Amino acid sequence: MKTDVVIIGAGPGGTVCAQTLLKHNINCIIIEKDEFPRYHIGESLTGGVGELLKEFGLHREMTKAKFPIKYGVKVYGEAENTFWVPVKKRNPDGTLVDANTWQVSRDKFDLILLNEARERGAKLINGKALQILKSGDKLAGVQVEISDGSVIEINCKYVVDASGINTFCSQQGLTSKKNRGNYCNQIAVYSQLNGALFDDGKEIGNTLLFHKNKNHWAWFIPIDDQRVSVGIVSPSSYIKSKNESIDEFFQREIKEIHPELYKRLKTAKIIEDVRKCSNYSYEIDKYHGNGFLCIGDAHRFIDPVFSFGVHFSVHEAKLAANAIAEHSHNNKKFNDTMFNEYQTTCDLGMNAVQSLIDAFWNNPLGFAYCVHVKYKEDIINLFAGRVYDEVPSPGLIALRKINDKYTRKAETLNN
Ligand code: FAD
Repeated sequence: MKTDVVIIGAGPGGTVCAQTLLKHNINCIIIEKDEFPRYHIGESLTGGVGELLKEFGLHREMTKAKFPIKYGVKVYGEAENTFWVPVKKRNPDGTLVDANTWQVSRDKFDLILLNEARERGAKLINGKALQILKSGDKLAGVQVEISDGSVIEINCKYVVDASGINTFCSQQGLTSKKNRGNYCNQIAVYSQLNGALFDDGKEIGNTLLFHKNKNHWAWFIPIDDQRVSVGIVSPSSYIKSKNESIDEFFQREIKEIHPELYKRLKTAKIIEDVRKCSNYSYEIDKYHGNGFLCIGDAHRFIDPVFSFGVHFSVHEAKLAANAIAEHSHNNKKFNDTMFNEYQTTCDLGMNAVQSLIDAFWNNPLGFAYCVHVKYKEDIINLFAGRVYDEVPSPGLIALRKINDKYTRKAETLNN
């Protein structure tokens, strides 16, 4: 079997990459090990994902699926420290206008994207990518174990690793080392509930976040007109100290973490398994090479707090497909640095979000001041995912100053 590009993984990254490649008349095969629809965490979308879905003509499908509309995120902290960041679109002249995006249940959402990719011409193979095939130094294809247990080889010129947290190319030793991220000692415990008290009117579909202490927080994300996704995130040492089953932990935390969360969930019933996820924060320094590149979670995941996972996967998917098209259509040479520019752009975005999240935890009050007073528009732009500007905005510079000050203070205390 032969194609131009093999994409490993049919999550949002893989399927948006396929759709973009097909727009460039580049053929692709998607390899997916799981049967769709399947459960996946990651239900709140940024404004930037909403815009991308509209650009890809998926507005009708999203409306048909009746996903809740998200107008923004409200963060409840200790005492009066509460803030609201609306979803806004940026006009070409830089002005911001009200906009919205969606909250999704990932089983349905990922299937919509996969069906769209297939309708546009992507081939799906149900199977597990086993290894990258090489001819000398050059990438030659991918070996795949298909669902009946047999093993096939697909020859291709390029591989896109969209395998998510499995980080396929890193496991194959193709990328540089996988490092622990800033939030690697966290555990998320989550489930879905029915019967929650939803907010009124337009606020019904918004993301609500609640935080207690540093790195100890909860999310409330409506995923249809009945169900809400709820997660508790805390340092692993905290959950261990409680000596509870994850079900007990989840239920007690709902009562204790914040009165505004409990108020909404007092009468709600858990309708799904309570799941947990740890060691999800990591990064790979160099995630492209001769004939391959990694997108989204396949090279870095920072932290779920402001819902950027799908954002990075789909935007990097587009960047990756454009980089492949540029390389292929111009018959450029294959070498180890062929996708350097791709990584430079991706790093700009991920580093901006890393600064946003770090500043939130390093100085919640200073962060809220930036949101409400000093850098309102810059923060709205960051939350929407407009994170690829080469020159950092004054708001982003201020957040980085918060982080530098915090690091210096921590160093002084440690010396
Ligand atoms: P995935 O969606 O993980 O897709 C990868 C696919 O690759 C999978 O279907 C997998 O089966 C397949 N695969 C893997 N290995 C192979 C192989 N060898 N062969 C074949 N197929 C393979 N993001 C948000 O945007 N909003 C949120 O609210 C949010 N909440 C989160 C909460 C938590 C606790 C965590 C941990 C993450 C959260 N995320 C959130 C992040 C989000 O889940 C991911 O960033 C997003 O799903 C990544 O998309 P992807 O396409 O890169 O990978």
